[in-house]
Amino acid sequence: MECKINFSGRAIRYTEDEIAVVVEAMRNADPLTQGQYMAAFEKKFADYQGVLEGSCFVTMNGVSALEMSAQLCRFKPGDEVVMPSHTFTASAYPYVKKGATLAWADVDLHTRVVTAESIARAITPRTKAVVVVHLYGYVADMPAIAELCKNKGLILIEDAAQAIGAELDGKKAGSFGDMGIFSFHSHKNLTTLGEGGMLYVRDAKLAALVPALRHNGHCTYNFERPDYWKPAMGNVDVPILDGDFLQPNNYCLGEVECALGAKLLDRIDTINDEKRARALRFIDGLADFPELEFHRVASRRHNYHLLAARMTAGPEQRDRFMRSMFHDKGIKCVVQYIPLDRYDYYRRLGMGEANCPNADAFFDSMVSFPFQHWLSEEDFQYMLASTCEVLTMLR
Ligand SMILES: *Cc1c(COP(=O)(O)O)cnc(C)c1O
Repeated sequence: MECKINFSGRAIRYTEDEIAVVVEAMRNADPLTQGQYMAAFEKKFADYQGVLEGSCFVTMNGVSALEMSAQLCRFKPGDEVVMPSHTFTASAYPYVKKGATLAWADVDLHTRVVTAESIARAITPRTKAVVVVHLYGYVADMPAIAELCKNKGLILIEDAAQAIGAELDGKKAGSFGDMGIFSFHSHKNLTTLGEGGMLYVRDAKLAALVPALRHNGHCTYNFERPDYWKPAMGNVDVPILDGDFLQPNNYCLGEVECALGAKLLDRIDTINDEKRARALRFIDGLADFPELEFHRVASRRHNYHLLAARMTAGPEQRDRFMRSMFHDKGIKCVVQYIPLDRYDYYRRLGMGEANCPNADAFFDSMVSFPFQHWLSEEDFQYMLASTCEVLTMLR
């Protein structure tokens, strides 16, 4: 059977107004990178997040934001970072690249994110930082986790790549920790033409280092130059923090993407609300099938970036379900986020040991449905009816 509903690589469609903003920036931006559109996007993003102006920095993707957050931690050999084993590999390897060892924390089987308890179990005397991933778009219990990190003196970083706009007690995902990162990749609810990201840094002293860290170590001269071209166009240095050198990068995002990102902030709440309303209709439409367990959250704590479920009847039934959905109905569900301790990469690095039974159990029985925002109502209804039919057939 032909594929009727694909698991799309593209989350949203753009409106004519959004396309016009892109065209306007294409015509008028000068320079085409690191100009007024970037400054405007960063300011608007900080306002949206409810954080201080000057604390948010656009990056070329989520990973480059994660890498700079790792640099700002200044890991020494042996330093550990607590990381959920159930997340996308991009959450984790930037910290490995910058010298940390990962210690895996388990997720809750129902919410699929880490908890203060599971983090506490992974903390050792060598722990320096904790990374919380708001996976699938659901905000973890940040008040409890922030309290734990504060008591233990640990750096708290939020990977909010999937959770833009999600909030807990009126506070946005990515604004609870010392640092937060966002992704505007093609799959995400807000995408800046396929690539893009943001780094939030709460501490003003650390935040002041990010522009040079992001752009080749460029900084302005701190003295008057009678001839503007001498000694050079701009000073190049490495950002230095308490005597430690931070190696520079070039992780900027272009002006056209920044113009679009700022514009999309006007619509992100609507996109998220529409996705959540639809997720709830899907979940409630399957209320008679408890063998497929969803995480139902009717508030803005979940933006339903993804619509994931667990087949409580186990991995084999999950496979039968996916086979029938694909071959009989033409609907391509996928399985996501193999526990990282099971990846060859982390095993080779000696990080193949984890005590994360929930992450294993969830991954082995999970199903992720196609859930792009632009899925038509007709296709959505077809997917819901097909899911009911396949589950009935499997009983
Ligand atoms: C998408 C994603 C990233 C990486 O973002 P990029 O913009 O693709 O670099 C990191 N963490 C999680 C959880 C993600 O989903």
